[in-house]
Amino acid sequence: MPPPRVRSRRSRGAVLLTAAALALGTAACGTASSSGAGTGSPAVSDEAVVTSFYPLQFAVEQITAGAVPVTVLTKPGTEPHDLELAPQDIARMSKARLVVYADGFQPAVDEAIAEVQPTSVLDVADAADLSLTLAEESGHADESVQEHSAHDHSGTDPHFWLDPQRYAAVAKAIGARLARDDPAHAAAYDRNTASFVARLTALDGQLRSGLTSCRSKVLVTSHAAFGYLAQRYGLQQHGITGVSPDAEPSGAGLKQIADLVRSQGVTTIYQETLVEPHFAETVAGSTGASVATLDPLEGITSASAGKDYFEVMRSNLTALQKGLGCS
Ligand SMILES: [Zn+2]
Repeated sequence: MPPPRVRSRRSRGAVLLTAAALALGTAACGTASSSGAGTGSPAVSDEAVVTSFYPLQFAVEQITAGAVPVTVLTKPGTEPHDLELAPQDIARMSKARLVVYADGFQPAVDEAIAEVQPTSVLDVADAADLSLTLAEESGHADESVQEHSAHDHSGTDPHFWLDPQRYAAVAKAIGARLARDDPAHAAAYDRNTASFVARLTALDGQLRSGLTSCRSKVLVTSHAAFGYLAQRYGLQQHGITGVSPDAEPSGAGLKQIADLVRSQGVTTIYQETLVEPHFAETVAGSTGASVATLDPLEGITSASAGKDYFEVMRSNLTALQKGLGCS
């Protein structure tokens, strides 16, 4: 039976929206409202849109354009795969006007949603088209193949946002849900979504043309976050640690990667910002390759090569062109 307070909550939340704020368009990034780290604002009673990790936070901020408080459960600088939630995170989810997450990526979030049953929930996993399974990642293969089904994303690669086309599809799903939940401002959400999608489409074009003629198509990364990007732009990804950065590579796995680096003439091993570069350095050290940074955009910190998704993706493109010898 639907609790009556759900309705009052939602309409009260809608009053907080102002047409003026929405009219600001995507220029307002909403950074002031995005901390969620208990630093004062937004309070739980602000009825924020709660997002589970950075790319979802960024998309919602672009589409709401500062009109709605947006919080994120994965604090900046923490690695999202093994997120643990604090009691105030659970409280925030229970009061949220909308919770946006990707099923199967962060077990703690999946569990909390089942427990809290927030007023409105959007799982973006279907829109993201998580078609890559973990089957090719050593160590995960057996579980992933048998667990995977249309409504169980635990066996799939979650890193959809590194493919701008998949990210655009997710943005459209978010925009549609915001418009449905808050029809009074649907036009603004639609407009902001279209503008965000246009920027992603432009980025897709830049990546495609920038990665067309490269000396090497072999992409050796520290954790295997770039599968959708590699698939989209014709690269072959080899992750040292698998889809989750926690999985430790075996000695045999490291040797296999090192052999590949030598036989394919790979000159650059990519490490990332939120994970210790230990394994990337080991492989580089044993093969004579150099180490460069490729950011899987699982969070923005002061160490990031840019202040938002677009800036970091352009920096990633530059790093790929340099390491793969693209002209
Ligand atoms: Zn990851």
